[in-house]
Amino acid sequence: MSSSKTSNHVTLFDTTLRDGGQTKGVNYTLDDKCRIAAALDAAGLDYIEAGWPGASPTDTAFFTEPPPLTHSKLTAFGMTCKAGKKPQDDPLLRKVLHNAAPVACLFGKTWDRHAEVALGVSLKENLALIHQTVAYGKTQKEELLFDAEHFFDGFKHNPDYALACLKTAADAGADWLVLCDTNGGTLPHDITTIVKTVRKHLPSAWLGIHAHNDSDVAVANSLMAVQAGCRMVQGTMLGLGERCGNANLLSVAAALRYKMGFSTSLTEEALRDMTRLSGWLAQLTGQSLPSTAPYVGQAAFAHKGGVHVSAVEKDSTLYEHLDPALFGNKRQIPVSNQAGLSNLRQALAALGLSATGKEETLRQLLETVKKRELKGYTFDKAPESFAVLLATRLDEAFQPFTLTSHDIRIDGEHVGDNGDHDECAAKVRVLCHGKMAVARTVKTGPVDALDEAMRKALTPTYPELETVELIDFNSDLVDKTAATGAKTRVYITSRRRKDGKLIQTMGVSTNIVRASLEALADSYKYTILMEKGLVR
Ligand SMILES: [Zn+2]
Repeated sequence: MSSSKTSNHVTLFDTTLRDGGQTKGVNYTLDDKCRIAAALDAAGLDYIEAGWPGASPTDTAFFTEPPPLTHSKLTAFGMTCKAGKKPQDDPLLRKVLHNAAPVACLFGKTWDRHAEVALGVSLKENLALIHQTVAYGKTQKEELLFDAEHFFDGFKHNPDYALACLKTAADAGADWLVLCDTNGGTLPHDITTIVKTVRKHLPSAWLGIHAHNDSDVAVANSLMAVQAGCRMVQGTMLGLGERCGNANLLSVAAALRYKMGFSTSLTEEALRDMTRLSGWLAQLTGQSLPSTAPYVGQAAFAHKGGVHVSAVEKDSTLYEHLDPALFGNKRQIPVSNQAGLSNLRQALAALGLSATGKEETLRQLLETVKKRELKGYTFDKAPESFAVLLATRLDEAFQPFTLTSHDIRIDGEHVGDNGDHDECAAKVRVLCHGKMAVARTVKTGPVDALDEAMRKALTPTYPELETVELIDFNSDLVDKTAATGAKTRVYITSRRRKDGKLIQTMGVSTNIVRASLEALADSYKYTILMEKGLVR
């Protein structure tokens, strides 16, 4: 703990594994929890709240044999003891307090209506529950945090009672009082006023903030709380969490360090790893990382408008609030209908390609890009297809191979619910440096069969293709009004195993198989160009 409540250090409390586990669609296995805990620990976060022992078999198992942590304090989550029971006799509370975690974070009711309606106890009884639970918890754990549930709503309805709950927890020995905006309905100006009032009433307490994003201001609320005197922020990676999520801890830490002059346990080095970590975590949790995610999204530093691009070429700070490299992200200059030759030059430079003395080629290339965009290509979603197009059109010698023909036969049997059976036979012909390679495979799906046939044909010449794997495939229609006759866009994401680098490619055709094949071919071409050091 830092030496002063007004110091410029803010403690980071990560609840990706607890509140983040309450995200719709996220279901951690025990192995997921261990891997995520190890990654958060490596990032250096102060606390990792990993779950509620006793509330689910996975959490109980995790706390029975938690993974070893180097930097972070493992924290168990739970609530005040049941009314009518002594804390030491409450079986659920015992599970929270009797385990290997050195810290417990216990929540209690601080909104009078919640105590009376949800818990069904008198206001006085609720204070007694808080006092007994915190006092007993302190005898069992090295450190005890009190999460003041619904504190801001409670304060708005009955400020004296909400403050009395905090004071009770502080008197019983809580190390931190964490003010929770549990329903996420509070706005930044109210956060400032209320936190300042709490500071006035409890000047010696260590205060934290736990904000939810229902009003889309969880990060702003957390920052305002720090400015008003809180020195702990609770939040999650990717902003995961119940309903609309918790405060995104990365966004909070970035703003604290680079904009507000505070230090946190996420060092400059840890922040530089955040684009990788966010991508990894999004994939593990089955969440797609929005391209617009601040700091770490693919579009976070993408410049599309021609005016923006020509200004960024002169001075990147004209259209960037921070340097993308601070987060391990990259500046992107997607070439689009809106922009011209300067986007193209920037894109080539980013790939390490030079177009000096190739003005005519460059103009033709721009026309090709525009024509493709008219056909339905969206290169900002498939940057590696764009890279392949640029490299191979700029210099024919960069072309790793040409696909000359393909054949796919699907033999399907319909046997109802007992399991359909399809046999897809694929054959491809590929021209590699003047030599024709032919490969055939049979699989149950057409894309899988083509993928394997292409790899079979290409790996004798390009063994580096073994280093990537296909991880995602999706499609949409270019012109939805044309229904089944519409052109289909196929997007493929592959990943390089050694560093997790994602390769996003696409194809467009009225034939979904051809579109898939085009996207697959681009992913192989990019891999070959990258592994040979021809593009960055
Ligand atoms: Zn919460």
